[in-house]
Amino acid sequence: MLKNNNIMVLMYHGLVSFDKNVPKGEDTREVGAGFYDLNVQDFESHLQWLQDNEYNVIVDAKDAIADRDNVIITFDDGENSNYSLAFPLLKKFNIKAYFFIIPPRVGRPGYMGWDEIRELHAAGMIIGSHGLSHETLTNLLDTQIDEELRSSKKNIEINLGAAVVTAFSVPRGFCNMAIVNKAVEIGYQYIFISERPRFPAGQVFNRVAVKRNWSMDRFVMAMDGKMPFKERIAFNVRDLAKLILRERGYNMLRRIVIKIFD
Ligand SMILES: [Zn+2]
Repeated sequence: MLKNNNIMVLMYHGLVSFDKNVPKGEDTREVGAGFYDLNVQDFESHLQWLQDNEYNVIVDAKDAIADRDNVIITFDDGENSNYSLAFPLLKKFNIKAYFFIIPPRVGRPGYMGWDEIRELHAAGMIIGSHGLSHETLTNLLDTQIDEELRSSKKNIEINLGAAVVTAFSVPRGFCNMAIVNKAVEIGYQYIFISERPRFPAGQVFNRVAVKRNWSMDRFVMAMDGKMPFKERIAFNVRDLAKLILRERGYNMLRRIVIKIFD
């Protein structure tokens, strides 16, 4: 149901341990970002489960052939916990993941610096772009969308010293075909979204947002492409709201939906 290309793609954001290592300040984080801050022990349990169940964690989307045992792991926003908490566990399990970076936030409190990002890259992690402003792309002018896609890619590649940025994660999940086409024109090969797939398979990957309050059973259910009935209602409401409302109205509704269903 939630899969595109028959590949399960998991979307993580920040991890937390007891020291609450998350960015401070409401200005830079999305509405409800805290719902995605997973406890580091839960993340370790997920990796352990993937290993125990012999999942093949894809290190390059080009290898993402339709196989139910394939999975891609992604992290959005470039928070510091990606380096301090997720990276050691990924190394422990010898698993590679995608990290989607917002260049203007690099080095700011709570976010990774270029040294950390370069270390991830050197360890075989895949570094992608998550735009410049984290604004909803569908609200921007064509020239701004071009800038978000082009400059972020260039900036990351300059800082990595290698032309390796071929994946883009669409901020806040609002996307359309014009954005996909523009991204491909600029040189991206893979676009990761976080909504129901309405795009041709091949280059656009839908993702399942892993939530903080998930039990292990809920994670296993997601890996099966399933969702509890109550969540499915909330998902459909959210999906419809994204179609109808602009960002401001959507975020207002999201607060209400989170209250009701979470
Ligand atoms: Zn984001």
